[in-house]
Amino acid sequence: MPAKVALQDTLTGLVFMNEKKCKVCKKAFNQFNSLQVVCDPKCALKHARTKEKERVNKLKAKQKDDVKSLLTRKNYMDKAQSAFNGYIRTRDLVEPCISCRTYSQDVQYHAGHFRTTKSQSGLRFHPMNCWKQCASCNNHLSGNILKYRVNLLKKLGQKWMDFLEKDYSPCHLNIEQLERLAVIYRKKKRLYERRFR
Ligand SMILES: [Zn+2]
Ligand SMILES: [Zn+2]
Repeated sequence: MPAKVALQDTLTGLVFMNEKKCKVCKKAFNQFNSLQVVCDPKCALKHARTKEKERVNKLKAKQKDDVKSLLTRKNYMDKAQSAFNGYIRTRDLVEPCISCRTYSQDVQYHAGHFRTTKSQSGLRFHPMNCWKQCASCNNHLSGNILKYRVNLLKKLGQKWMDFLEKDYSPCHLNIEQLERLAVIYRKKKRLYERRFR
C-alpha cells in the first residue's frame, strides 16, 4: 500500500491526504480525510442511497431466512403435498372419481393415492399413483381400493400396475427436495389450467 501523502493547499489551507478513486463515478479526487470515499456531494448522495438499499436488501434477506428456519420439515411436506394434490385434481378435472366413477358436482374431490403414503412413501409424489377421487371413497371407504384397482388397470395397463404394486424402500425427502417438488407441481398445475381455459 502506498504511504499517505498529506499536502496542504496553499490557497485554501485544506489538507489533501491522497489521490483516490471515487466509489461512484470512478474519477480521481483528492481525499481530505481517510473516511471520504466519493468525490463530491452529488456522488455522496448516490453513495448513501446505494448503501441504504444494500442495508434494506440485507435485512429483507435475513427476515426471509428467519421465516424459512421457522418452517419445519413438516411444513415443507404439507406445502409439497398440497401442490401435488392440487396438480392431480386439475389434471383429472374432467375425469370421474377413480373408484366409483361418479361425476357428481355435489361431492368434494380429493387426490387419492393408490398405494398409501404410509406404506409406500417413495410413491407419495408419483403422478401415476394418485388420482382424483370423491371424498366418500377417499375418506369413508378408505380409498375404495378394489374398484380403484380395477379402474386403474383399465386406465394404465398391466405394466404400470406392476410398477405401482412393487414394494419400495422408504423415501425420506429433505427440505430442498420438498421445496423443489412444490415448485414443480405448482408449475404443472398452471400448465393444465391453461389447457382447460
Ligand atoms: Zn464521484
Ligand atoms: Zn368415489
